[in-house]
Amino acid sequence: MKSPDFDYVRPSSVDQALELLVRHGDDARIMAGGQTLLATLNMRLSEPALLVDITGIASLQGIRLVDRMVHIGALATHTEIEESPLIREHLPMLSRAAPHIAHRAIRNAGTWGGSIAYADPAAEWPACLLALGGTVVAQGPGGERRIHADDFFTDLYTTALAPDEILVRCEIPATTPAQWTGFSELARRHGDYAVVGLAASAHRSQGKLSDIRLVFMGVAATPLRARQAEAALRDEPLNDASITKAVLKLKEELDPVADLTHSPAAKRQMAATLLERLLKSAQA
Ligand code: FAD
Repeated sequence: MKSPDFDYVRPSSVDQALELLVRHGDDARIMAGGQTLLATLNMRLSEPALLVDITGIASLQGIRLVDRMVHIGALATHTEIEESPLIREHLPMLSRAAPHIAHRAIRNAGTWGGSIAYADPAAEWPACLLALGGTVVAQGPGGERRIHADDFFTDLYTTALAPDEILVRCEIPATTPAQWTGFSELARRHGDYAVVGLAASAHRSQGKLSDIRLVFMGVAATPLRARQAEAALRDEPLNDASITKAVLKLKEELDPVADLTHSPAAKRQMAATLLERLLKSAQA
């Protein structure tokens, strides 16, 4: 299918883009890498009259370290993140997750901001942002506002962003030497969306974990923190017994949504396997 007709503008500043969003309301749609949006237009799942292409806005680009926080601009592509030495050093979870996103051509065009704003529950970046306790910075007509990842993903493909706001960057605490992070996912083929995935982060001291964030992809309408499994591990020695307990708690608390090929029971078992594997790697 072909997309419906639309007008196209490529503003060079956030203020110009915001002005267009305010003026055209529901008829306007932001476009970044277009890797998701153009497919939805071609399938006629959405019919905006105006596409506001933000890829010409220089202030939305780049990856920077500012006071132990990593700032990832909305327009940083998946490939830039994958290949960034700064990310490898300060947010190694993202370096591990990036190769799982689609294929090279899509990673070259798709953006960090597009993935976070689209909020696919099976996507890698939303789960990583939540696991790393990052903050979304949104800019609207009234200026900037900051939304913690815990409050950002509100429902299926739905976020706390207002229709007249642009995600300008995310700010993520740089990983510390005492922090353990891990990422793993199970997909039918490399590059497919994950069937189930896990992004995990914790403070590790004297064989115990604290500040634990275990975030699953592909099991709910949003990336999901496994709070009971986190509680089972908190301040306990990380050993075979505590890992078994956390996996049991996870199986009790997860109520995964089925997809076309996987039952809830299969997804629950896959999530349990991922958790056990990642915790064993942390133990090692
Ligand atoms: P666009 O498609 O341009 O926009 C997506 C949505 O976000 C639109 O609603 C747009 O209005 C909004 N938006 C974009 N930028 C902003 C912003 N700065 N502020 C506010 N709203 C904004 N993704 C994965 O995570 N994992 C995968 O395995 C994966 N596999 C894929 C396989 C295929 C075949 C394809 C086509 C895509 C796949 N994707 C996957 C999606 C890909 O990662 C997209 O790049 C990403 O989801 C959206 O980024 P984009 O820059 O292309 O956004």
